[in-house]
Amino acid sequence: MTLALRVCRCCDRLITEPEDAVPVGYELGMFGPGWIVWAHSEHPLHVEPDAMPRNILARLLITRALQPDD
Ligand SMILES: [Zn+2]
Repeated sequence: MTLALRVCRCCDRLITEPEDAVPVGYELGMFGPGWIVWAHSEHPLHVEPDAMPRNILARLLITRALQPDD
């Protein structure tokens, strides 16, 4: 059995105690399943959400707003 290393997304330190790990998100993999994003139990509120979906939506809305009316 292999043990997956869990790194805190907030402080980038290794989470050494399994009961101290809190799942805070899920990231999709490019060519397969993704992975769970972890944080220390005292840090989940400090983890920023992934900005990519927000940035894609912002680009779509800006593009739509800048298109001339038909
Ligand atoms: Zn941490």
